[in-house]
Amino acid sequence: MVATRSAHKLRELRQLLDLPDLELVSLDDLGVEGEPIEDGETFEANARIKARFAARATGLPALADDSGIEVDALGGRPGVRTRRYAGPDATDPENNAKLLGELAGMPPARRRARYVCVLALAIPDVAAAGGLRLLSRRGTCRGRIASEPRGSGGFGYDPIFEPAPEPPGGRTFGEYTAAEKHAISHRARAARRMAPVIRAALGPAVTNLR
Ligand code: IMP
Repeated sequence: MVATRSAHKLRELRQLLDLPDLELVSLDDLGVEGEPIEDGETFEANARIKARFAARATGLPALADDSGIEVDALGGRPGVRTRRYAGPDATDPENNAKLLGELAGMPPARRRARYVCVLALAIPDVAAAGGLRLLSRRGTCRGRIASEPRGSGGFGYDPIFEPAPEPPGGRTFGEYTAAEKHAISHRARAARRMAPVIRAALGPAVTNLR
């Protein structure tokens, strides 16, 4: 199962993992209430917190995603605070505006950034410490923060993220098709690394999850 309430993330992970024998269901599908406190200082820590919470709540193997954006000129901020960068209930345009404001006037070379995604898998295992075995994989996607938002595709920071293959002022992820983004995105790279881990760890159990 997947430790998310986001239908968007679930659909994307289904496509990216490409494990047709494995049925991925969300926390909502299983009627799990509540949220873990994501107080880790790294993407790995927060992905593991979410995976652990979901596996404990359901007794099933659980996959969780934690992601965000790191800007070199800001010492890696927003980092683990990406979703709430402009405040606890910040909207995507508010977060984008805050980041653009902090980089105002900086030339392209100083606007380097990377998206990071960590996928964590928690597997119930009586022999493991705390009753759970934890595995994680990371994917990144390099690029730079655009000088203004462009495009309406994707979500989050996509309208202000120019992936590295683009020249300064080129297309943002907001102007990419889903297929173009999936070819190079942090989440796709993490999923490509996690798929064989899931297959190896759950191979014999996969049929029991269907
Ligand atoms: P999480 O749900 O705590 O992992 O927060 C991740 C946040 O990072 C999201 O709310 C987005 O703002 C941002 N983010 C992560 N991946 C992407 C992406 O692929 N495109 C745009 N924004 C992203």
